[in-house]
Amino acid sequence: MKLPPRGAGRDEVLARMDDLRARDADFRGGKTFSLIYNAGDEVFDLLDEAARRFQHTNALSLSAFPSLRRFEADVLSIAADLFHGGEGAAGNLTSGGTESICMAVKTARDHAREARPHITRPEMIVPATVHPAFHKAAHYFDVTPVVVPIGEDLRVAPETVEAAITDNTILLVGSAPCFPFGVIDPIPQLSEIAVRRNLLLHVDACVGGFFLPFLEKLDIPEARAIPAWDFRLPGVTSISADLHKYGFASKGASVVLYRTRELRRKQFFAYADWPGGLYGSPTMTGSRGGGPIAAAWSVLQFLGEEGFLDLARRTMTTTRKLLDGIREIPGLRILGNPPMSIYAFTSDTLDVYALGEILETQGWRLDRQQMPPSLHMMVSPAHERVADQFLADLRTGAKEIEGKPPAMDGMAAMYGALAAIPDRGVAARVILDFLDGFDRG
Ligand SMILES: *Cc1c(COP(=O)(O)O)cnc(C)c1O
Repeated sequence: MKLPPRGAGRDEVLARMDDLRARDADFRGGKTFSLIYNAGDEVFDLLDEAARRFQHTNALSLSAFPSLRRFEADVLSIAADLFHGGEGAAGNLTSGGTESICMAVKTARDHAREARPHITRPEMIVPATVHPAFHKAAHYFDVTPVVVPIGEDLRVAPETVEAAITDNTILLVGSAPCFPFGVIDPIPQLSEIAVRRNLLLHVDACVGGFFLPFLEKLDIPEARAIPAWDFRLPGVTSISADLHKYGFASKGASVVLYRTRELRRKQFFAYADWPGGLYGSPTMTGSRGGGPIAAAWSVLQFLGEEGFLDLARRTMTTTRKLLDGIREIPGLRILGNPPMSIYAFTSDTLDVYALGEILETQGWRLDRQQMPPSLHMMVSPAHERVADQFLADLRTGAKEIEGKPPAMDGMAAMYGALAAIPDRGVAARVILDFLDGFDRG
């Protein structure tokens, strides 16, 4: 498309956009199990209103927009309190989990440059299940990721992590929980190692950060199974937590928090020699839209602790129903022992990728995973209305493919083939080709 020579009318423009979104995933109806964390229409409407008021503002200059400065300070102080950060904790708002993680890795690298200048090839130790954002950060900031395998319970074993430490190690990482299987790495033991070996420890609570603090307070069995994972543990030096996940904020809002202000300072960037003025920036982005910041603040104020507790309780009730329902379907099996509302299921007898496709024809969207092939689910409060229907469709779908060989064509076959390529470099090239093709219609 070229820029239209003449502008279209407003109604025409919006009508065309509505046409295009008709085929988008139905997240309001609770049909998606990733990407969107749906706390109901009341919350969506509040976010729309809050974002609209601050849509055109720019958090690049907090002096021009003291409102945004207030929102950011309030949100960070709420997060620090939820994660038991104490007086010294400090952080920043970012555009999402990936930026928060990039910042934590860059901070660890720059901390090591000063504290341990003999290190020329810094390494960080990450579990195999750690989010790819850590590999992206490693790629961007020239830190070598040392991947350690997970155990039978799908969590990293503390001994495996300790055995991987070298003179070049600058950072340990654990997830609370990890995205693929929803299990929490043994953070108390990792903290103990970090203290003893004088290393930084980042806890990736991108998905759990705004859920676990409330789950822990509920009087349900799942709550008692949650070990400490945050700044209560002396070895934890930084935490990433996404507001745009279980904080139910609009996309584009996450926090990165450090135990101390001194550590956070390693994250900042300043340039004093620009003719355009003195330039300072705390995170990756330059200009930052005020919309997501305002929306994040609004939802925390709107829900309050009571609101979050209620959403966590409802989400866990739905999760239990779904987990039990899936376990009852012959051939399906939950991976590991997920303590919160994110998990995956696999099968030793059925082609789960084919099952994913059958579900998709009914509008359900579940992420496909590999190692082993599995389907992934993140449960939102809005899923309580559709849980029974989902289980019924899943049961029918599983019956339909019972005894059938794995699919030989379509998406299911493609996932299967890609997951099975022994040379992961080839698989990565297929992904790059896919990214390269997005603008070719
Ligand atoms: C979602 C997620 C991330 C990445 O967050 P984005 O907002 O998608 O950049 C990182 N870690 C975990 C555990 C996550 O769930």
